[in-house]
Amino acid sequence: RRVEVGRDEHRIDPSLIDPRATKVVTTLQDAGYEAYIVGGAVRDLLLGHRPKDFDVATNATPEQVKSQFKRAFIIGRRFRIVHVVHGRGREHEVIEVSTFRALVDASAAEAVGGNEKTSRAELQGKSHAVDASGRVLRDNVWGSQVEDAARRDFTVNALYYDPRREVVVDYHDGIADARRRVLRMIGDPESRYREDPVRIVRVVRFAAKLGFEIEPATRTPILRMADLLANVPASRLFDEMIKLLQTGHALASLEELRKQGLHRGVFPILDAVLDDAHRHDGHEKFIHMALADTDRRVGEGKPVAPSFMLACMLWHEVVKRADALRHRGESPLPALQQATDAVFDARIGDISGRGKLAADMREIWLMQPRFERRTPSTAAGLVAQPRFRAGFDFLRLRADAGEVDESLAAWWEDYSLADDTERGDLLDQAR
Ligand code: ATP
Ligand code: MG
Repeated sequence: RRVEVGRDEHRIDPSLIDPRATKVVTTLQDAGYEAYIVGGAVRDLLLGHRPKDFDVATNATPEQVKSQFKRAFIIGRRFRIVHVVHGRGREHEVIEVSTFRALVDASAAEAVGGNEKTSRAELQGKSHAVDASGRVLRDNVWGSQVEDAARRDFTVNALYYDPRREVVVDYHDGIADARRRVLRMIGDPESRYREDPVRIVRVVRFAAKLGFEIEPATRTPILRMADLLANVPASRLFDEMIKLLQTGHALASLEELRKQGLHRGVFPILDAVLDDAHRHDGHEKFIHMALADTDRRVGEGKPVAPSFMLACMLWHEVVKRADALRHRGESPLPALQQATDAVFDARIGDISGRGKLAADMREIWLMQPRFERRTPSTAAGLVAQPRFRAGFDFLRLRADAGEVDESLAAWWEDYSLADDTERGDLLDQAR
């Protein structure tokens, strides 16, 4: 049942909408296509929040969309979508445009995820595209708007907004659920989780982010079906995990994971963090402070790096392993190096494209013992490092959590801001 809801009822404030998103919609409409703002942006607008990004859904194919814009790129990740780019450099804005699709088997679609090329058959929207292992992909089967709505996850995520007519199109009572502050899976929850287990993580993330209740039928299968997450490609689970911890609601998300019984045995990184062995050694305080800090930075619109947050999450395991190696006679630096490699392998693993992440985390960790050596050559070398700031912020967090002396962090702060003469004095003091 298609319901069109007018402004009196949805009360969306048009000033919260990025004019560039509206422009993409009206350009497509003027070319004779159907086009709407869709998904999370409409949900956020209904709740009176300014959406951080805008997705557009249309009945135009990717090629048709591309032909309407000067700078538009067909991207073949997970789904074939079009990125319409406005502006340049830091200020640039990407509006994602996706073609209405029929129900997809998202977990199968994941098999060709990453950056692998999508086949010609998919490009043309043929009904059968097959990946290397013979799994059928029905990822790019174009459909109607009603089909597009049905393949989305939660009712509040399946709303379409036409900024020109100021109308919300609602097939699944999403507006009512947004008012009730409820997350409700579209269709049969159990089969939808089976179809794509990542929805288990998504429901937790949205509950934490929006402060919504998970409606009973949507909630009940979660714990029972959590094992299915083991079949999800590691890279996709990792991406969800980053979203859980890095989009400003990390503490609330951990709380919600606990509530649903998912804080153990699902994410290797969280297992490392929430392991009982760490409970009483100040580790919890450190993690809590790190996540609170991340949430605060996101709230203030400041950038956050996954490498920093993950380095925090795994730090105590690194320290523990390095200590164990030293007790077996290894010298400090090699012990720390071996520990960083072992922890990265155990908790993050061989996820393609994570080379930079590993290098950044390693750098933050390996800088820590160097902060303890305040000699002229170490100090000058450390401050000159491009990643000094991350290493120092990490030290500051350790000091705040009581792991190292507060005066050490204060000294480095002073040193990094000082001129050459003052640096000489500071080095004398530290002797
Ligand atoms: P956020 O504001 O956190 O980005 P969002 O709702 O925009 O929330 P996205 O992951 O950006 O979430 O996805 C955009 C939309 O695509 C969703 O609102 C939903 O309609 C659809 N979607 C995304 N992932 C899935 C999935 N695994 N299963 C079904 N629908 C999905
Ligand atoms: Mg989004």
